[in-house]
Order: sequence, then C-alpha cells, then structure tokens
Amino acid sequence: MVNAIVGANWGDEGKGKITDMLARESDIVIRFQGGANAGHTIVNDYGKFALHTLPSGVFYDHTTNIIGNGVALNIPVLFNEIEQIVSQGVPRPKILVSDRAQMVMPYHILFDEYEEERLGKSSFGSTKSGIAPFYSDKYAKLGFQVQELFDEKALRAHLERIAPQKNVILEHLYHKPSLDIDELFNTLMEYKKMVEPYVCDVSLYLANAIKEGKDILLEGQLGTLKDPDHGIYPMVTSSSTLAAYGAIGAGIPPYEIKGIVTVCKAYSSAVGAGAFVSEIFGEEADELRRRGGDGGEYGATTGRPRRMGWFDCVASKYGCRLQGTTEVAFTVLDVLGYLDKIPVCVGYEIDGEVTTDFPVTTKLEKAKPVYEVLDGWKCDIRGIKNYSDLPENCRKYIEFCEEHIGYPIKMISNGPKRDDIIIR
Ligand code: GDP
Repeated sequence: MVNAIVGANWGDEGKGKITDMLARESDIVIRFQGGANAGHTIVNDYGKFALHTLPSGVFYDHTTNIIGNGVALNIPVLFNEIEQIVSQGVPRPKILVSDRAQMVMPYHILFDEYEEERLGKSSFGSTKSGIAPFYSDKYAKLGFQVQELFDEKALRAHLERIAPQKNVILEHLYHKPSLDIDELFNTLMEYKKMVEPYVCDVSLYLANAIKEGKDILLEGQLGTLKDPDHGIYPMVTSSSTLAAYGAIGAGIPPYEIKGIVTVCKAYSSAVGAGAFVSEIFGEEADELRRRGGDGGEYGATTGRPRRMGWFDCVASKYGCRLQGTTEVAFTVLDVLGYLDKIPVCVGYEIDGEVTTDFPVTTKLEKAKPVYEVLDGWKCDIRGIKNYSDLPENCRKYIEFCEEHIGYPIKMISNGPKRDDIIIR
C-alpha cells in the first residue's frame, strides 16, 4: 500500500518527524520532488539530523530509500549526506536513485546565485541550491538525466549542445565567466563514481514492490502553498508539492496512493517572500520563533529566521483540500503552551468581504486576517500520550482548528521526539 506525507502550508510543518515515525512501518520511503533546497529536521536515538536530500527512512535498516525521478538530484549533496549520517553512527542505508532523475549541474547553482543578485530587492529569497534553474532546464529539455553519465560520448555531445545557450546568458546578462566543458565533464565523471552504486530503474522496482504488497511512503517537501500551480505563485517552489505528483515523481499509478497524511503545524511559519496573511511581527513573533520547533524556527538549510504567524484555517483548509487529505497530523502543539490567549485566523477580509476560501495571489495580497481568540492551556503538554489527558483548552484548540479546516486530525505531535505523539 502506498501512503503519502505532505505539507498543508509553507513547509517546515514537521513532516520529517512524522515521516521518520511512519517510516518505521514502511518497506520503502521515496522522495518524489524538490531538491536540497529544503530540509527536514529529525531527532532520533542517533542524534539530531538535518536531511536535505535523503529520504527520512534512512535511519531504519529495514527500509529502502529512494530518490525518485521527480527530484532535483544534487549528487555531491546526496553523497555527503550519506557519509555524514554514517559517520554519526547510523548503519549504512539502502539507497536507490532513479536512472531518470535529473542532476543539478554546478552551473544551476551559479545561475541561481546570479539571478538573485540581479533581482536584488525583488529576489525570491531562493536558497541558491539551483532548484529554479534546474527545473527550468528540465522542462526546456536542456537537463541531464542520471543515465547519461553511463554514455560518455553522448554526454560530452550533450554538454557541447547546451553550452552556447548558457554562455550567452552568462556573458551578456550576468557578465560572468562562460562554461568550461572539460571541467564540467570531469565533474560529471566524479558524480558518476558517487552515484553508480545506487542507480536503478525505480518505476520497475516499485511496480514489483506494489505487486508484492510492500508498504511504501511518499515523502513530500515543502507544502501546498509552495506548489507552482496551486500555491502563492510566483513565490513558490519549482516542482509540485502535492501528493498527486508523487505518482509522477516516483513513477507509480495514481490510484495506488491510498492514504494522504497532511501535516499542519499548530501555528504558522514561512521562509522566503510572498503573502502571509496571519503573519505577526516584533516581540510577539520573536517569542514564538524562539520557542518554536525544536530550538527555534530557523531554516534547516540556510539558518535564517522564519517568518512567524498564528494558525491559519483558511490556508490550511485549502492546503489540505489540494493534497487530498485522508488525515491530518497536527504538529508542534506543545510550543503554544506559554500563551494566555491564542489567536486563530478563521477568515480573510478582502475589499470589505470575509471569505474562508483561499484566494488567488492578487487578492491574497489585499487579505487581512479575521481572528478568533481562544484560551491557552498554560502548561507543558510534552509526555502526554492520550488525547483525553490533554488539558481541556488544548483539546478545544485542536477541535476548533479541525472544524475550520474540515479534515480529521488523527495525530497530534507534542514534542520533537519520535514518540512524542498522540494518536486519536
Ligand atoms: P519539515 O521540513 O516539515 O520536516 O519541518 P522541520 O524540519 O522544519 O521541522 C520542524 C522542527 O520542529 C524541527 O526542528 C523538528 O524537530 C521540530 N518538531 C517536529 N515536531 C515537533 C513537535 O511536535 N514539537 C516540537 N516542539 N518540535 C517539533
């Protein structure tokens, strides 16, 4: 059976922890989109890890971890991440990389930097991991698949074909040095050595695994609001963050995805630019940021402070709907224990009218939050295992959010550790 874990919001909802937990019951964990631009933070018996490329199943010796064709594969990042976790005492994981996955090329990273530099103040706040130039090339049919590393003659010819196009932009738009084909070729040969042990026909492997009844988990990165079609375009990421894309980015039939666990954080945070209706500022935001997550809300990849806000029912309802949610995991609830009163955004006021339906970007820019204020529970809820043992105001908060988003909250995460979880 295939399940997906995805985010309802802007990412950083705590998917890594929920995936790590559910990976325990899975035979296979697959990354199907995105690249090393975001990261999961996972705390387990081996320590604390920030994974950017590896699937979250790497900590279990019974799971096979797959990089699907939909991923922007940065081979040295993958290689270093494997070596890093092994050096921290994790048994060497079983990893497969799709022969159809495309590679982040060294120049994708440069183009990302140059473009953000060119845009200056109106930049996207990219993590400069090369993701946008990578996906642009993929869909412009200028990309390089992993399988090409194994035909050196064709690879060199492909490099020679794309270089003139890249060089025009490098020279005339960015005023930077042009590509050195020999150097690129040699770098790719290094990549080949790193990735060779893992390369596989992933969709075939998965077709057999499905036939054998294996438990398969699709692991999403970021969340609905960063989806290029359904998110806050153009302040989005460059690959689909929706569970539906799991079918494409892994190479499985869409009807095989039976369960979609959508992760919602009990308050909001976002990185990068773009509308964020329930955003808070100043001391109020600083305190939530400081207390948030596990050691503060700072980007797993860049370390930059995240933008903070109250729980947004409008965005989360939309986020869950587009994912096709079968159940919600409500995370980082313990962090709110310090508040006397907790505002929850229940509607957007746009040009004098209140809506609970998430609007398109131009309207979103004008939206003002409509809040309802709930009573806090003023205590530490970490360590609680049963729903009925949660303080009454805490249960009221969960049930209030559940009613407004319209999807069942079946898991509640009340701490960063694997077993800080309440199943309802
Ligand atoms: P992801 O990209 O969706 O996996 O999100 P992050 O890696 O940003 O995870 C959010 C942070 O919150 C990490 O530091 C986690 O260890 C931490 N975290 C996850 N769940 C909980 C929780 O229920 N409570 C607390 N306090 N921290 C959590």
